[in-house]
Amino acid sequence: MDAASGSPGRAGFLSCTRPSLTIVGMQTFRASCLIFLACLLTACAAAPVEERNPLARWVPSANHNEREPVIIVLHHTDQHSVQQSLDTLRSANSGGKVSAHYLIGNDGRRYQLVADARRAWHAGPGRWGTITDLNSASIGIELDNDGDSPFSQAQITSLIVLLQDLSTRLRIPPSQVIGHADLAPARKQDPSRFFPWQQLAEAGFGVWPRDSDGPAPAGFDAWQALGAFGYPLEDRVAAVGAFHRRFRGRDDLPPVLDAEDARILHSLLLQ
Ligand SMILES: [Zn+2]
Repeated sequence: MDAASGSPGRAGFLSCTRPSLTIVGMQTFRASCLIFLACLLTACAAAPVEERNPLARWVPSANHNEREPVIIVLHHTDQHSVQQSLDTLRSANSGGKVSAHYLIGNDGRRYQLVADARRAWHAGPGRWGTITDLNSASIGIELDNDGDSPFSQAQITSLIVLLQDLSTRLRIPPSQVIGHADLAPARKQDPSRFFPWQQLAEAGFGVWPRDSDGPAPAGFDAWQALGAFGYPLEDRVAAVGAFHRRFRGRDDLPPVLDAEDARILHSLLLQ
């Protein structure tokens, strides 16, 4: 029920009819009522406005639920402590307000900053496959890491527990786990080359190439495969850089797709 319609119980209390009170008691009670009414009005003013379109008649249906995310985006914080990241993710950050649904400390401790059904501000502009508004479509998980260090086993174990929960509870397909750099390769490099994507895949999350799929067949178009897998190709050098970081753990390979890349992409597209 919306705030404007109120409820009979609340209206009855506000009428303040208490015949047994003394005059002084009545005055005190009336003052309390006024304070309560003021608080109530303040609360009403601060409550989120029901998002109704004035162009149409409001005929509410009970048949709906919260919007549901379909993909999970992993980040590293590029900062030096959980406390620093908690501050950044909850404040008017100098580079603009940012947030994430979850933050996992180097020690594996998990923090939730935004409810799953809400749109956290973690992905920014980018694209993955046909998804162009990643913030609306995803759950964002920040990993406490300076971008230049290996991720601790406690942190990865904790992440896997969270991924199991999210994929089960929110019905996000376990394969739909990507890195921030995958969707925005020209702007982002996280998570870094140290992130153990293969270990994650062995735990059932994300995807990893299978040796059993063998080499790519003759005529295999690796660039087309890179786009088909999901990478935006507007900046091909950046896209292949993100691909190399994720699937070969390297930041120093030339920005071309070689036979090993073709093998990897061929296997990924078979899964
Ligand atoms: Zn990020």
